[in-house]
Amino acid sequence: MFGTRRVVQACFLALVLVGVFALQANCERWCPFGGVEAIYTFAVEGNMLCSLGVSNFFILGGVLLATLLVRRAFCGYLCPIGAISEWLRRAAQRCGVREFRVSAPWDRALSLFKYAVLVVVLVLTYRAGELVFRAFDPCYALLSRHGEDITFWAYAVSGAIVVSSLVVMMPFCRWACPLAAVLNVFARFGVTGIQRDEQRCHDCGQCARKCPMQIPVDGVQRVTASRCIACFECVTACPSSRSRPAALRWGPWVPRGRRWPQGVLVTILLLCTFSAVAASYLIPIPSFWMRHGELPRQVETVQLRIEDVTCRGRANLLVYFLQRDDLFAVRGGWQLAAWPGPGWSEVHVTFDPAQTDVDAIRQAITEPYFERDTAYWRMSPFRIEGYDPLGLELE
Ligand code: SF4
Ligand code: SF4
Repeated sequence: MFGTRRVVQACFLALVLVGVFALQANCERWCPFGGVEAIYTFAVEGNMLCSLGVSNFFILGGVLLATLLVRRAFCGYLCPIGAISEWLRRAAQRCGVREFRVSAPWDRALSLFKYAVLVVVLVLTYRAGELVFRAFDPCYALLSRHGEDITFWAYAVSGAIVVSSLVVMMPFCRWACPLAAVLNVFARFGVTGIQRDEQRCHDCGQCARKCPMQIPVDGVQRVTASRCIACFECVTACPSSRSRPAALRWGPWVPRGRRWPQGVLVTILLLCTFSAVAASYLIPIPSFWMRHGELPRQVETVQLRIEDVTCRGRANLLVYFLQRDDLFAVRGGWQLAAWPGPGWSEVHVTFDPAQTDVDAIRQAITEPYFERDTAYWRMSPFRIEGYDPLGLELE
């Protein structure tokens, strides 16, 4: 029988797969952990790392809000890696493979590993100003149309997750995921959770046995452990009868409150997530920004769609052409706002109309540039939609 959570997991995984592989969406733009990695560079430079977008911040905000409301439900319902890992274990269980349960002290010790991963990833990313972890990222290896930008180690880590998931329930989510480390901090302040009524409890231990995160549910009044993914496995396992209602319920932290249905949790989670996606479209903050020289009060802005501005590096190349000092130099100050991504990207150039015009900007971007210092001709890789450098206006 498929429960509510399995249906949500399957639908969300299908959405991700269709988005990435059929609609060619940039999966990195929608990863909440991308928002964590990009915070420092965005705060210092005003630009996103590599091909990340400001959408990463919106989705991170939505997931953090959801975590404050429904704990780590994102991991239990929406994360594709969590779903795949859990399904692998359940499939292995059906085939008779026994689960390996680590002891509580080992579980606690292994849980610390994800904080170390988080620190290493953030420090290396901030120091390099690049997504250095991408080359080893199992999520990127499994759920993206990546090229040669990943290493053998990304596949090795993916393989390790797959194999270990057959014998251990969600090992990556519990011990190694750096996003889980971030969410744990916020989950501590979660306003809902699982509560146990000791008077109704038979001490059968079913809840603790079913808990994928190995939380000793039968020994606490409130499940305050930040690793709880609000999966409802314990609630479902808790026996009930007409004369003796179930001892477990999920809801806000109020004593003897009502038992809230799982649908409320799913609604909150989806509202937070999809509102964040909608907000990222409604508030189009550029993910690359650069200013050159001074701009007067009277300015004009040209909106261009340019092919091949795929990432921060490519946007920097665009800046290189706009900063040229030859016949096609852009006179006066200018400001560039861009939304790098695959295919055609939106680029806005604000300029001083007393010194230059739209044609000069288009020429600066598309004409070959002779670097006098190195005596080297650099050809522009950029094409502007509707513009022919030979002077013909295209449809
Ligand atoms: S089984 Fe219960 S305690 Fe364990 S993760 Fe799921 S909801 Fe939380
Ligand atoms: S499953 Fe329910 S009755 Fe059994 S130990 Fe857990 S809370 Fe108590």
